[in-house]
Amino acid sequence: MTPIYMDNNATTQVAPEVLEAMLPFLTDRYGNPSSAYTFGGQVARNIRDAREQTAAILGALPEEIIFTSCGSESDNTAIMSALSTGKDKVHIVTSRVEHPAVKVLCNELAKQGYRVTEIPVDREGHLDMDRYKESLTPDTAIVSLMWANNETGVIFPVEEAAQMARDRGILFHTDAVQAAGKIPIDLQNSAIDMLSISGHKLHAPKGIGVLYVRKGTKFSPFLVGGHQELGRRGGTENTASIIALGKACELALNRLEEENTKVKALRDKLETELLRRVPKSRINGGGAERLPNTTSISFESIEGESILLLMDEFGICASSGSACTSGSLQPSHVLRAMGVPFTMAHGSVRFSLSVYNTEEEVDFVIDKIPPIIEKLRKLSPFWKPEGQAC
Ligand code: PLP
Repeated sequence: MTPIYMDNNATTQVAPEVLEAMLPFLTDRYGNPSSAYTFGGQVARNIRDAREQTAAILGALPEEIIFTSCGSESDNTAIMSALSTGKDKVHIVTSRVEHPAVKVLCNELAKQGYRVTEIPVDREGHLDMDRYKESLTPDTAIVSLMWANNETGVIFPVEEAAQMARDRGILFHTDAVQAAGKIPIDLQNSAIDMLSISGHKLHAPKGIGVLYVRKGTKFSPFLVGGHQELGRRGGTENTASIIALGKACELALNRLEEENTKVKALRDKLETELLRRVPKSRINGGGAERLPNTTSISFESIEGESILLLMDEFGICASSGSACTSGSLQPSHVLRAMGVPFTMAHGSVRFSLSVYNTEEEVDFVIDKIPPIIEKLRKLSPFWKPEGQAC
């Protein structure tokens, strides 16, 4: 069965053009880019081109791009660098809905004695900007706020938040792992100092990420060793994946409009039809500005995990909460932070589309989900069709 893949916030298929671009670097062109001879030097030039392609999707300079192994490494590096260069500063500001790549690190740092402020969000997932402003203090080393949420797609006003941090001399990092390739990013006239992206969320392979560090920003490497990445990350370059990421960024930039028209229209159709056909369902963050490809839908009084299992029988791939929390029956920390009622939060499914999805696939899903929900609700002790659920 060919999967109907609607879990692109978890990972994406490698674009055929990307595979084609990277393959020679796994076969014939295996030279080490640091080698003095032409066979290595040519690879170094290819990496330089990929760095330019990557910088272009961010409106950045090529030398502001550091290739890493993944989004998590980029997030960790940004925060640890700020703590290392901001010597006496012991405070970190973040939000309640960050990805574990930031959240778990901040929890660990809190155990080590750092002060961590997690800014709350409202019912729609909007960041509490008043609380944010109040949280910025002279001992704040760094703010780390995600650009777009992986579960709901809700977009934070990161430019405004970055400017507030800059006005107070505080470094600002954003986790743009879900934003890159889906909405325009232009760092040229921005107050953002550091930004993370991840290749496998934008049709490059797993195992490659980027940390953007604005020119002039104090930086301390996370991985030390060789002189690679201008001494900012040791380790022989992951050449094939870097070339792949460059190509994926070029494609994503060209497809930005398609993402915001075709993909958005498919997402809108999916959620409008599901809301229409399934009683007591709602979109989490539906009232906020969101990524064009993501919808988090809650169906009252059932388990998201059970919905996934029944969808799987039709080859439909989506996730409950985020992929990282599925397997646990706790509602996700994102939906809890938004105050989504327990009976709604449990029955939530995230669909995340890409340019490779078709209208036929969306129609298929619209057709299959309502009977699945009906079947599960008949089995649910909490389901009360007419009145309020427990
Ligand atoms: N940040 C966000 C918002 C994500 O969605 C993810 C992955 O799901 C990550 C960070 C981690 O990226 P990676 O899987 O490349 O480590």
